[in-house]
Amino acid sequence: MKLLIIEDESRVADFVARGLQAEGHTPVVARDGRSGLAAALTVEPAVVILDVMLPDLSGLDVCQQLRAAGSRTPVLMLSALDSTEDKVVGLRMGADDYLTKPFAFDELVARIEALARRGLVASPRPARITIGRLVFDRETLAVTLDDERLDLTAKELALLELLLSAPGKVFTRASILNNVWGASEDPLTNVLDVYVHRLRCKLQPAGGDKAVIATVRGVGFRLNPDAWEVAADR
Ligand code: CA
Repeated sequence: MKLLIIEDESRVADFVARGLQAEGHTPVVARDGRSGLAAALTVEPAVVILDVMLPDLSGLDVCQQLRAAGSRTPVLMLSALDSTEDKVVGLRMGADDYLTKPFAFDELVARIEALARRGLVASPRPARITIGRLVFDRETLAVTLDDERLDLTAKELALLELLLSAPGKVFTRASILNNVWGASEDPLTNVLDVYVHRLRCKLQPAGGDKAVIATVRGVGFRLNPDAWEVAADR
């Protein structure tokens, strides 16, 4: 299975990756918090193995943001810290299990496999997705930006919900047309571009300088979760 290792210490990352590969898994390694978070949302691994002390974003931040983005991927935290308090914080931030360094490789594998099994029967998706200044409530279908409710049409909502199902992942034009308009729609029309443009205007936060929906030329579109980041001076 596909496993994501977020660890800046090459010695540990390489050791774990090689070992998991030998067990027949496909490990992907990210070396800092920010790229690790992006990978967790796009690679869709069965389990994330997450170090606590990372450059950029800490492991705790990665875990919190992963959950806030609606991801239910099981997270196993790795840390040299072993006080009860650190474990409690990690688990409160949404980690599913915690292992302290140094650890026995067999124990790591056993815990990853247990988490992956649990992941298969994962609890239902959270009703509410929060990405910085944007909140999407799946039950009431209310979308709010900076606490103001946006007026979206049914198609705009469907498009947003699809993009939010994997923030940062590139959706091809064909898959969006298929999911939102049904396969029968003629993909040659520019209906998709018109909707993306409208949705972009509605979702753009005041003062934000990053496009909320990025165009991937010749391929499709992806959400840019950073666009709703809460600025430090707000
Ligand atoms: Ca580290």
